[in-house]
Amino acid sequence: KSKDSHEPEFIQTVTEVLSSLEKVIDCHPQYQEAQLLERLLEPERIVSFRVPWMTDEGKYAVNRGFRVQFNSAIGPYKGGLRFHPSVNQSVMKFLAFEQIFKNSLTGLPIGGGKGGSDFNPKGKSDNEIMRFCQSFMTELYRHIGPNLDIPAGDIGVGSREIGYLYGQYKRITGDFCGVLTGKGLTYGGSLIRTQATGYGIIYLANEVLKARGRSLKKKKLTISGSGNVAIYAAEKAIELGASVIAMCDSNGFIYDKEGLDISIIKEIKEVGYGRIREYVESKPKAEYTEGFKGIWNIPCDIALPCATQNEIDLESAKMLLKNKCWMVCEGSNMPSTLDAMSAFADAGILFIPSKAANAGGVAVSALEMSQNSQRLSWPSEEVDCRLKNIMAEIYQNMAVAAIKYGKSSQDFITGANVTAFLKVADAMMEQGLV
Ligand code: NDP
Repeated sequence: KSKDSHEPEFIQTVTEVLSSLEKVIDCHPQYQEAQLLERLLEPERIVSFRVPWMTDEGKYAVNRGFRVQFNSAIGPYKGGLRFHPSVNQSVMKFLAFEQIFKNSLTGLPIGGGKGGSDFNPKGKSDNEIMRFCQSFMTELYRHIGPNLDIPAGDIGVGSREIGYLYGQYKRITGDFCGVLTGKGLTYGGSLIRTQATGYGIIYLANEVLKARGRSLKKKKLTISGSGNVAIYAAEKAIELGASVIAMCDSNGFIYDKEGLDISIIKEIKEVGYGRIREYVESKPKAEYTEGFKGIWNIPCDIALPCATQNEIDLESAKMLLKNKCWMVCEGSNMPSTLDAMSAFADAGILFIPSKAANAGGVAVSALEMSQNSQRLSWPSEEVDCRLKNIMAEIYQNMAVAAIKYGKSSQDFITGANVTAFLKVADAMMEQGLV
C-alpha cells in the first residue's frame, strides 16, 4: 500500500504474506467482494505515547511508547512488548501483523497486537529499568485488560520487566488479573512459559524431520542470539541429541565444534545479564569472534536464527547454502530478508517460517491466561504436553495447506500463511463490517 511506503518492515511482511495468498484468494471470491485484504492490512488501532522517566543521576529522559492493536477477529489482542532502540511504528506494525497469523496458527482464541518502546535497557541500572517500566505502564494500563489486550515480553522485556510492569498495573487499577503473560511463578505465571518459544521451535523442527524419517540426533546447529528464544531452543535441541556449535549476541559469536555448554550461557545471560564473549573465560577451547554476521559462515546442518528481524540477508543465505546447511527454522520474527527466502526456496532446503516455528511462546501465554481465569496453575508436564500437541497440530495444518495451495508439499510459507489467514478471514466475514 503506497500510504505505508515509509514503513519498510511492515511492507516486507505484507509482501511475504500476500504473495503466498494469491491462490487461496482466487478460490474464495467472497473475500475480494468484501474487500477483506484492505481491511486486514489496516490496524484496528495504534496508540503512541510519551514515556518520561528519570535517570539515576536525576536527569530527565523521554522515550516513545507504542501499542498496535491490529486485529481482534478471533480473540483479544495478544503480543509482546519490545524495548530496543530500533523500535518504531513500522517495526511495531510488522510484528503485530505477523502476530495475527501466528496466534491464529496456535488454534487458540487470541487476536494480534504488539507494543514496545525505543528505550534501550542495555547498561541501565535495575532502578532505571523499574522507573521506565512504571512510566510505560502509567500510560499503557488504560489501553489493555484481561479481555481486551494482554501484552507479554519480547526483545529487552523478560521476567524482570514483566514484574515491574505488572506491579505498576496493579497499583493503578487494583486489579489482580491476567493482564500480562510471562509473569513470575509466584504471582500467576505459567510453568514452561520461559522455555516455550525455544522448546516449541524444536518440537516443530522435530515434527518436520520425523515426517521425513529423520531426527535431530547428531545434527550440528547454529543458533543466533543468546536471549530467551535462543537459549531454550538450544537446551531442547541438545536434549534431543543435537549439538549447538555456535551462538551470538549483537557484538559477536562463539564457536566450539564439539558443542557449546548451554548451562554456562544461561549463567552469563540470565543471571549476570552479561555478554556472550564471557563464555571463553569458562571454556578456553571455544573461539569468540567480534561481529555477529560471521556466524552464518560456520558449516552446520540446521540454522536457527533467534535474534532479530532481517538478520539473514542474501549474502548470509548464500554462505549457509554454500556450507551445505539443509534446514532453516526461523526462531526470531522475520529473520530472513525476502531475497534470502527466495534463495532458500530455489535451493529446495527445508524452511520453517517464524510465524509457525515460534508460535509456542504465545501459545503457552494463552495457556497462562486460561490458568489465570481458572485461578489454577497446571503442572509443567501438562503445559509441556499441550505445547507439544499444539506444535504438532501446527505442523499437520501447514503441511496439508502446503499440498493444497503451495508451490510444493514443502512450501511451509504458504502452508502457514493460508492456514492462519483462513481462520481470521472467516471470523472477520462472519462478524460483518469489522
Ligand atoms: P532477548 O532480548 O531475550 O534476546 C535477543 C537476542 O538477540 C540477544 O542475544 C540480542 O543480543 C540479540 N539481538 C537483538 N537485536 C539484535 C540485533 N539488532 N542484532 C544482533 N543481535 C541482536 O529476545 P528474545 O529471545 O525474547 O527474542 C528473540 C526473537 O524472537 C525476536 O525476534 C522476538 O520477536 C522473537 N520471539 C520471541 C518470543 C518470546 O517468547 N520471547 C516469542 C516469539 C518470537 P544483545 O543482547 O547483544 O542485544
